Amino acid sequence: RPRVLSGIQPTADSFHLGNYLGALRSWVEMQETHDAFYCVVDLHAITISHDPAQLRRRSLVAAAQLLALGLDPQRCTLFVQSQVPEHPMLSWILECHTGFGEAGRMTQFKDKSAKNERVTVGLFTYPVLQAADILLYQADAVPVGEDQRQHLELVRDLAQRFNTTYGRTFTVPSPYIVKETGTIQDLAEPARKMSKSASGPSGIIDLLEEPARIRKKIKSAVTDTGREIVYDPENKPGVSNLLTIFSTLAAVPIVELQNRYEGKGYGDLKKDLAEVVADFCAPIAERTRSYLDDQAELDKILLAGAEKAHAVAARTLAHAYERIGFRQPL
Ligand code: ATP
Ligand code: MG
Repeated sequence: RPRVLSGIQPTADSFHLGNYLGALRSWVEMQETHDAFYCVVDLHAITISHDPAQLRRRSLVAAAQLLALGLDPQRCTLFVQSQVPEHPMLSWILECHTGFGEAGRMTQFKDKSAKNERVTVGLFTYPVLQAADILLYQADAVPVGEDQRQHLELVRDLAQRFNTTYGRTFTVPSPYIVKETGTIQDLAEPARKMSKSASGPSGIIDLLEEPARIRKKIKSAVTDTGREIVYDPENKPGVSNLLTIFSTLAAVPIVELQNRYEGKGYGDLKKDLAEVVADFCAPIAERTRSYLDDQAELDKILLAGAEKAHAVAARTLAHAYERIGFRQPL
């Protein structure tokens, strides 16, 4: 089976619809076809300012949500990144093979550093740690949203560079990005992607949100001038975003939705979509709560996941140490 790895940051109390449609949906699918490793990347979460108690809590809520979405610990390895010490160890090696200018070209760094007053070295080296996450597991594929394409390109470059310099050590991974849902836009500002850390409350649909609030947000989503319900991301980003969400969650092709709403208004579309989204989210929130109710079981799942991940990561790191000219890690 080909190997897959992906991660998600515990940077909010809930994942949002963009995380699900852009990435997590593929995570669930790929556990059937791949040897899948998925992690809650809490090391990445401290690249922006954070609160320790909140982070601890959010990592657990993140894991519970992933299980609620359908990850099955029997069919994939689910773990929390900070529990596997090899990640920052390989990251250091890769940092020493990354050009300063090369890292400086990353648009996520430019965006996030413009928005935060506290810009750390960790925010700058974020994509190198991401490279370590992926390369440690010899992943063939990495399911992510479109915003991660540039980082994946860097990961491939680093793997190839290392292999060329020291001999074949890492699998060169490919991004797995679903074209239709690779970028879900912010509901209030459809020119921007929906984001845990950057979207305001009206722009983001959290999976764990109250159904009433979800309906309200969908109904007040910013739409475009004109009144026709057509898929045209260039000129009608707001309506197109709603159609994408509708089509994917209800498993109805976009053309069929266009036909269904021909001659009707944005209000009709939003009213129906509000129900679709609320109905989708409610059971996820419910299941997440029940996973959180049994924290001993959750801890057990994460510990078993970390042990499996550690076994694979340690093997790769030992190989990289050998290649680099280090003594073996303890
Ligand atoms: P943050 O704002 O803290 O960076 P985020 O919302 O971007 O949070 P991440 O944890 O960084 O979430 O990303 C998790 C996964 O979700 C990644 O694969 C990312 O590409 C994907 N993703 C994030 N936002 C979107 C979106 N709006 N549309 C599609 N995929 C997305
Ligand atoms: Mg992000």
